[in-house]
Amino acid sequence: MKIDIITIFPEFFDPFLETSIIKRAIEQDIVSIKAHQLRDYSKNKHKKVDDTPYGGGAGMLMTMQPLDDAISNLRDKNSKVILLSPQGKRFTQKKAIKLAKESHMILICGHYEGIDARIEHFIDEEISIGDYVLTGGEIPAMILSDAIVRLVPGVIHEDSSEEDSLQNGWLKYPQYTKPNDYKGYLVPEVLTSGNHQEILKWREEMRLKNTVIKRPDLLKSIKKTDAQTIKVEEIKRNIKKV
Ligand code: SAH
Repeated sequence: MKIDIITIFPEFFDPFLETSIIKRAIEQDIVSIKAHQLRDYSKNKHKKVDDTPYGGGAGMLMTMQPLDDAISNLRDKNSKVILLSPQGKRFTQKKAIKLAKESHMILICGHYEGIDARIEHFIDEEISIGDYVLTGGEIPAMILSDAIVRLVPGVIHEDSSEEDSLQNGWLKYPQYTKPNDYKGYLVPEVLTSGNHQEILKWREEMRLKNTVIKRPDLLKSIKKTDAQTIKVEEIKRNIKKV
């Protein structure tokens, strides 16, 4: 997988690319992630990449020429060109799973007041990381890259992402590590019982319970087995009783 990021702050990505799992994935050649300086593509003699908006109004907008040239230079027939924007479709784990199958992505980071609206003719999609406005697309580009790269085979243990929260709709079950007794708070007994069957059963019930309690809004869109539907109803009834 290859990710090219177009930005006016490529150095912003240095710590991200040089740390932990992302760093390892790059070193192992599983992914290549590069941040490109948009100004390098500007034909303006001062390397300008922004201008005032037609019709007036606050702030500066990023101009088309450097972006168009950067995209044309980096794209090939398999590239997916994504604009990070608060107006885009909301990024989800489901979307991350889909994008992890792409071979090449070009992520465009806006800045200032945003980008000339004609950018829509030069991109494949527009993605938002949430309903709030940031100063630039750099953090959103890192969020996308991070969520996607960890799903690329070989980057982390596949068993580990398979059970992750949201991966199959549900939240994950609670997890505990040593010590068994922390300030009187004990680890659930079943986890130290050594009974694998019972542990699996407990985990299945707990991921349902976690979802019902913490993110009931997710329940509607999860494909449930009959047993899960019954269990969810039972959990809901028990919560009401408490
Ligand atoms: N004036 C624009 C917002 C500009 S914010 C508007 O109202 O739509 C500047 C840049 O930050 C955007 O071009 C985009 O690349 C990035 N950005 C801000 N919030 C974002 C979000 N929620 N998701 C993804 N990118 C975002």
